[in-house]
Amino acid sequence: MGRNNTIISTLMNLSEKSPCNAKLGAIITKGSSRPESSGFNHHRTRIHGNSSTCMHAEMHAAIAIYKRIKMRKKYSDAKMRRIMNKYTVWVARISKQNRLASSMPCMKCRNSLLYMGFSRVCFINNDGNFEIKKLNDTGFSHLSDAQLSFYGL
Ligand SMILES: [Zn+2]
Repeated sequence: MGRNNTIISTLMNLSEKSPCNAKLGAIITKGSSRPESSGFNHHRTRIHGNSSTCMHAEMHAAIAIYKRIKMRKKYSDAKMRRIMNKYTVWVARISKQNRLASSMPCMKCRNSLLYMGFSRVCFINNDGNFEIKKLNDTGFSHLSDAQLSFYGL
């Protein structure tokens, strides 16, 4: 299996854990297809208050690795950004037909990933193929079809 196939099967397995209607999986890699962190979208209940928010797959994976490294190494935020810069975020949505479906990160995730220092994201575009994009690319200005349906718009 090629690098992308390994990543696709990992993302598919992760997306199956999602309790949401739209099922997304995410991993974070550095130089190989081995996931350094992984995540899936899920509901998240705020501790204080009763509102439920949605944790997007890419944030689930990103926050986990960021916290893990920061807690272990006690690095500053600036140092953390330089480290996170070397990682790639992969995110895919798996349709009910078990196909790869569009999964461009929303603006909220894009901004949060940038803040943590991530620079590259690989997502499924509207043609069903992986597309790599720099997070600071101005092309990140729209909600994808996936997010429009995800948010019920
Ligand atoms: Zn998002």
